[in-house]
Amino acid sequence: MGNEAELYIKGNEVETYLEKFMATLVAKNPHEVEFHQAVREVVESLAPFLLKHPVYTKLKILERMTEPERVIMFRVPWINDRGEVEVNKGYRIQMNSAIGPYKGGLRFHYSVNLSILKFLAFEQVLKNSLTTLPMGGAKGGSDFDPKGKSDNEVMRFCQSFMTELQRHIGPDTDVPAGDIGVGGREIGFMYGQYKRLRNEFTGTLTGKGFDWGGSYLRPEATGYGTTYFAQEMLKTRGESISGKTVVISGSGNVSQYAVEKVNQLGGKVVTLSDSNGYIYDKEGITAEKLAYVMDLKNVMHGRIKEYAEVYPDSMYCENQRPWGVKCDIALPCATQNEINEQEAIMLVSNGCICVAEGANMPSTPEAIEVFLKNRILFGPGKAANAGGVATSGLEMSQNSMRIKWSPEEVDAKLHSIMKNIHTTCVEYGTQPDGYVNYMMGANIGGFIKVANAMRDQGLV
Ligand code: NDP
Repeated sequence: MGNEAELYIKGNEVETYLEKFMATLVAKNPHEVEFHQAVREVVESLAPFLLKHPVYTKLKILERMTEPERVIMFRVPWINDRGEVEVNKGYRIQMNSAIGPYKGGLRFHYSVNLSILKFLAFEQVLKNSLTTLPMGGAKGGSDFDPKGKSDNEVMRFCQSFMTELQRHIGPDTDVPAGDIGVGGREIGFMYGQYKRLRNEFTGTLTGKGFDWGGSYLRPEATGYGTTYFAQEMLKTRGESISGKTVVISGSGNVSQYAVEKVNQLGGKVVTLSDSNGYIYDKEGITAEKLAYVMDLKNVMHGRIKEYAEVYPDSMYCENQRPWGVKCDIALPCATQNEINEQEAIMLVSNGCICVAEGANMPSTPEAIEVFLKNRILFGPGKAANAGGVATSGLEMSQNSMRIKWSPEEVDAKLHSIMKNIHTTCVEYGTQPDGYVNYMMGANIGGFIKVANAMRDQGLV
């Protein structure tokens, strides 16, 4: 087996290695396009490193890392408010537990499928490794869409979902959290059912309510962390967020707190969006306007379009994304593949110098190529948005120790973790001409720790 692996590598260039690896992965996982995309991006930047370090190729570390340790798929039946039976799909991808219990969010969205969850779980493994905390990688969710459902419907769905999921998770096994469509309300319903069925009060979910085990700053963490990461990248060029115009997509959890932190650091956010369109407010989304957005989105469950009705100086652009708006910094915080090549070209030609991904894989491979070719600061999601899971890790620690850190303590830890991730990216991603390829840095930095743990633990 060792000789075969050696021959496989010897005499082959990076491109051959990549294409062979991808051909096998695609054949084994047909039709899973998002998973292929996420793996290709990682293998592209890892291949030169792997070819220099045959210990990893001999042990087929990457082949093992791209095969989930376990995939759980289940039926989720529930009753809607009209008394009718509904059936959804439920999933949990337990991708890798080499450096800690499985950890990763649950996504409730009609688009959820195996491919999307495998891409997210794979990214999560490297992201969690980058945080320096002991967390493996997982992702899960359902094609259930909470939008337009009553609180009672969401509760019945969450209870049914957790009735099955609970047998596969636990504080030392797998600790899920929120993601798209899963916020405080959904975590509450799921935790209630988990506790009832297992008869235990442990930190098995993160993103819990503050009074029942949640950490200060968990809701803020991803948006804050992404902004801290952008700030670190800007510092390398003697720049800062202060005085900069910022374009943000999405209007959910990550976007809202990215706006808050950009405002605190003296920047001006001029856009927000949802899947129907975006709003442009040239005066900036101030703290007062953000409070309105939070109420609109988190309490009223309304659409971003309504912002333009309340603030008539702003405008709403139906069925469009915000990347044509002139800005210095772009923070994509909605979903995967939301910036394509054309939009990346627009951003760069409008003078954007920094893109930090609050969402997971929001830039297509072609868009990333545009950013890298133009040598702008590009922070990939697995580094830039790792603050969310890092603070989930801090919530786990507080739960285990049965203590509560103050908001200042959590913020200081989050800030320091984001700085450390930035340092790791610079260490592994600096190119001979001095340009930092943060994507390469994050992929190699995240990979090494997991790979070494897998090497040490033998073939499991
Ligand atoms: P939310 O559900 O709170 O918000 C998602 C936002 O994105 C909404 O405004 C939603 O609009 C928009 N959106 C969703 N799907 C699409 C789509 N197909 N096209 C356009 N807009 C869309 O989710 P989060 O803010 O938690 O998550 C956003 C991103 O950040 C995701 O990629 C997630 O994986 C990533 N992330 C989240 C973390 C967290 O801690 N929450 C941690 C790390 C990454 P609409 O209401 O119309 O659906």
